[in-house]
Amino acid sequence: MTTLKFDSKGLIPAISQDQSTGQIRMMAWMNKEALSRTLETGVATFFSRSRNKIWVKGESSGNTMAVSAVYADCDEDTLIVLVKPAGPSCHTGRPTCFFRRLDENGESVETEADATSFLYFLEAEIAQREKSTADKSYTRYLLEAGAQKIGEKLREEADELSVAIATEDNGRVASEAADVLYHLMVALRLRGVALHDVIKVLESRSGVGGHVEKANRSS
Ligand SMILES: [Zn+2]
Repeated sequence: MTTLKFDSKGLIPAISQDQSTGQIRMMAWMNKEALSRTLETGVATFFSRSRNKIWVKGESSGNTMAVSAVYADCDEDTLIVLVKPAGPSCHTGRPTCFFRRLDENGESVETEADATSFLYFLEAEIAQREKSTADKSYTRYLLEAGAQKIGEKLREEADELSVAIATEDNGRVASEAADVLYHLMVALRLRGVALHDVIKVLESRSGVGGHVEKANRSS
């Protein structure tokens, strides 16, 4: 902590990012004590400038954030806190505080779609297509056709990917992998399984996600 640059009020901005989804959840401030407590307890803890006191994120709502790791930027004056949120992070009930998209004039407009990374954007897009009334939507066609059809496509695309891996160039491998991934995501939509839940399974298998306290103890 000695090299970190806290501002004249003894604070440093801390941006919380969902470790599984990459989504930026919120920004808050930490003083040295908030940071120490975060590192000690593995629960995101901040300093409230309006209430002038330390607060544990989610202490009243229950929407706490378990901390996996804290990173400082190159100037050591901003932190990223990698978290596993127990629920929505914004007091409005939205998962993230960042749902006001700026238009070209810099005016903020409230949007349905939160700021998120591409695969989650695609997941939302697929859900959107399911409801769309547009004439031509391949996604909607698949979802209406059901499990049998989607399963067929998945097997077909997996087979093409296997051939590409064995005999074709990397561009073809990427293209076939994209087809598999897309059809997989349509299948998940059909079953109402969230991409996040798939990633959670992968994480549990790889043992990622132990909070900072554990990491500190083993070092
Ligand atoms: Zn918020």
